[in-house]
Amino acid sequence: MRAAVQKILQTLLDLQGVDIRLLEVRARLATLPKKTAEIDARVAAAKAAVEQSKASQLSNTKDRKKFELDVEQWKERVRKYRDQTSQVKTNEAYKALQHEVEMAEAEISKSEDRLLEQMVNAEEYDKRVKASEKDLKEVEDAARGQRSKIDAEKAAAEKDIAALEAERARAVAEIPENLLDHYDRIVRKHGGVALAEVRNEKCGACGMIVRPHVIQEMRRVQGENDQDLFHCETCTRILYYIEPSPAGAPASGPAQQASAAAAHGEC
Ligand SMILES: [Zn+2]
Repeated sequence: MRAAVQKILQTLLDLQGVDIRLLEVRARLATLPKKTAEIDARVAAAKAAVEQSKASQLSNTKDRKKFELDVEQWKERVRKYRDQTSQVKTNEAYKALQHEVEMAEAEISKSEDRLLEQMVNAEEYDKRVKASEKDLKEVEDAARGQRSKIDAEKAAAEKDIAALEAERARAVAEIPENLLDHYDRIVRKHGGVALAEVRNEKCGACGMIVRPHVIQEMRRVQGENDQDLFHCETCTRILYYIEPSPAGAPASGPAQQASAAAAHGEC
């Protein structure tokens, strides 16, 4: 009968091992969407920078066209005023036209200054567009590598999960239903760990003292059935005790890993 309890404990320990690995793999898998979102955000920011620099470049082009047009229109007016000058009869009218010509020439000069300024700026805008496009290409190239790495991580994690779930199904098949329910309840309560090794007369999980007579019982008493497991009185985890191996002798076999027993089960 002792062997029966040891076998159940060993199966529970195997199950716990699988569940802990499942938790690790699922945690790994859960980090991937955030990594993908960070890559997407970097690409989006680089694209926005390109659009921004192109918008500035476009606005500069429009300004230049406008100032070029202004120059042409003021020049046209000057020509018109000069034509009219030849036809005026009075000195007053002549002076008035001269004044218009001067005003128009001042406007030409102003528009030419603005045009020149925007032509100088244009070089800077062109540089910014080229730099932002180069940056976007680098970010996109890097993102491709990062995304395929994440895809590989995801595929590996999903493969691990499938293998672990198959392993879990095999372990679960060996465990009586009521014990499995109990195990699952403790797992939910304690974030994945339902079994605790008794070490130095304490529960290996919560650290509460396990009374010596309980340990003696665990070591001595043999279970009659699968309900005869010991539990920590504080955290309710299923306790197991591993007999220390004799000095110099290496620990061996699953029977030595889990030795516990009988009669105190509350579940
Ligand atoms: Zn405990």
